[in-house]
Amino acid sequence: MKTIGYAARDAQTPLAPYTFERRALRDNDVALEILYCGVCHSDLHQSRDDWKEWGPTLYPCVPGHEIIGQVVAVGPKVTRHKVGDAVAVGTIVDSCQQCDQCRRGEQQMCREVPTLTYNGRDRLTCETTHGGYSKHIVVRDEFVLRLPEGLDPSRAGPLLCAGITVYSPLRTWNVGPGSRVGVVGIGGLGHLAVRLAAGLGATVTVITRSAAKAAEARALGADHVIVSTSDEAMKAGASSLDVIIDTVPVAHDVSPYVALLDVEGVLVIVGNLGPVPAFSSLPLVLGRRRITGSPVGGLPQTQELLDFCARKNILPDCEIVPMQQINEAFARMDRGDVHYRFVIDMASLTAA
Ligand SMILES: [Zn+2]
Ligand SMILES: [Zn+2]
Repeated sequence: MKTIGYAARDAQTPLAPYTFERRALRDNDVALEILYCGVCHSDLHQSRDDWKEWGPTLYPCVPGHEIIGQVVAVGPKVTRHKVGDAVAVGTIVDSCQQCDQCRRGEQQMCREVPTLTYNGRDRLTCETTHGGYSKHIVVRDEFVLRLPEGLDPSRAGPLLCAGITVYSPLRTWNVGPGSRVGVVGIGGLGHLAVRLAAGLGATVTVITRSAAKAAEARALGADHVIVSTSDEAMKAGASSLDVIIDTVPVAHDVSPYVALLDVEGVLVIVGNLGPVPAFSSLPLVLGRRRITGSPVGGLPQTQELLDFCARKNILPDCEIVPMQQINEAFARMDRGDVHYRFVIDMASLTAA
């Protein structure tokens, strides 16, 4: 199947139109027409080959792993989806399906390494996978999620990466009514963490460096705000939180946040920080506090998130852009100039 998308040809040049072939349907494949695709920071970094420690970018690179679409064709052995269904695809499109992690629905931690939606290698042909900045995609049945009725397709995309990245640790650490959750940073991930934690019944505190963001945090549903540049506010917040979701995407000192954790509290890092400044083990030892990390969730949990958001009417704030504006969107995202996530409207992408 011939399709059109936008690709990075190398690390320096802007994304540009790219015509390519999607594989012919295998027996268990679903073909989608992509309607919307969220724009993730990973898309920008992968396009620029910023993550060499995880392996080089395979050019041409068609990014995009927050995909919302409609089924246009199915292979003869597809059982979960039919033509016309509203569906979603996230950050992975295949895994071994045999190992202990796959069997317990944590395909993102597959022992044989899951196949990434883009910049991955197809398990059968070793061809480079291409993501959602395109008109069509072909994905095996099991890795296609159901888009529940009532969830606005133009805003649901970011749930597939940003959303599940913060929802998964909230579920891992049993956040619910009575939980005291802190969220560090209110960008694409952080604003969803506030809404999801509140939706789960938690009391939510936003921790921000800027007093100017307090009103913004409250408007998102935060009950409290701690301005981290105020020693007084940080002291007053000591030992007051059970779970902190730290969404800051660059290396930073986590010690001030550990001080906000109550006994047995947990600080969850969800960004790719690399080495972080040294922290003292003392508050960890004395209060059985934990510092941990968390990736996206597996397929069952991602479906759970979509269903939960439909039920609770939780969605990200999105700015919809045409495919042709992706390079401006990257530049604006890079300087934090988006509230809070870009979504590409694929209707803008025509064969012409
Ligand atoms: Zn992402
Ligand atoms: Zn596996």
